[in-house]
Amino acid sequence: MVIVMASRREEDIQNVADRVEELGYSPHLIRGVERTVIAAVGDERGKSRLQALESLAYVESVFPILKPFKLAGREAHNEDTVIKVGNTTIGGGHFSVMAGPCSVETREQIIESAHDVKKCGATILRGGAYKPRTSPYSFQGLEEEGLKYLKEASEETGLPFITEVMTSEQVPLVSDYADILQIGARNMQNYGLLKAVGKVATPVFLKRGMMSTIQEWLMSAEYIMSEGNQEVMMCERGIRTFETETRNTLDLSVIPVLRKLTHLPIIIDPSHGTGHWDYVAPMAKAATAAACDGLMIEVHANPEKAFSDGAQSLKPSKFNSLMESIRPILALNNQTL
Ligand code: PEP
Ligand code: MN
Repeated sequence: MVIVMASRREEDIQNVADRVEELGYSPHLIRGVERTVIAAVGDERGKSRLQALESLAYVESVFPILKPFKLAGREAHNEDTVIKVGNTTIGGGHFSVMAGPCSVETREQIIESAHDVKKCGATILRGGAYKPRTSPYSFQGLEEEGLKYLKEASEETGLPFITEVMTSEQVPLVSDYADILQIGARNMQNYGLLKAVGKVATPVFLKRGMMSTIQEWLMSAEYIMSEGNQEVMMCERGIRTFETETRNTLDLSVIPVLRKLTHLPIIIDPSHGTGHWDYVAPMAKAATAAACDGLMIEVHANPEKAFSDGAQSLKPSKFNSLMESIRPILALNNQTL
């Protein structure tokens, strides 16, 4: 932490230095012509008490040198996190495509979807059994029955599967079935849920809250990791802006920004990010070109009959064309599917 003094009085400077020491840090004084600066040396992350010194009239400002996300950040852990799920790998040059319907609707539908997306080259099956819907009257998901169908589809195709967990009470059950636990955008700052998924051994897929900054999102990853689970993926799924032509505004600038700040894999979801099937492939290609670690794509055999998110779902034939178009981009980036 760096403390910039507003006062040049020796007594004030000494008082701050003493307070810094009391809080367990070593004060180092830098005396400039105009200002005196005190560097508080010690691990400052998570230690907000130093920040309180800003309330003293003779202190101008207090600011951190290190990023507050200790485990998720690159400062203490520079090597890219690589996550193995079943027979597939995510991160570190291994590109992952998670595809399937928004919701698990019937046993036949999810099994057929799993075969469809596998044929096109997807590496992981997606499907929601617990659905966070804006209206309580909309389809809420098949719950445990949906998890059973996902498991069956996964066993039949050999594709691991990802599904959303909405409450901390559901974590033991969902992690019994799923290969990856999805935390949805609406739950990104549900700290009880983040702590609960931090305690299990199943990898976590953390979607960005629709009104969250990158820093808040990384602090949510930190919540999970601080409980023990280090296998976290960051998924951009669009944020809410003034634009209404798209469902959300897909913020692809997170790819280079997260790459710099964190070692965790970066996945892009252009389905929720745009909300319309016609916009999905161009944004998926753009994300791939910017060297993310994977994509999440909603695919449905009959989008017009889908229980949820039909408008943004690709038919298998369209998904197949998308897969074909990203292969040369992956080769250019030295990534393998
Ligand atoms: C989903 O993946 O279907 C979903 C509900 O996602 P999000 O949390 O990004 O809205
Ligand atoms: Mn959806």
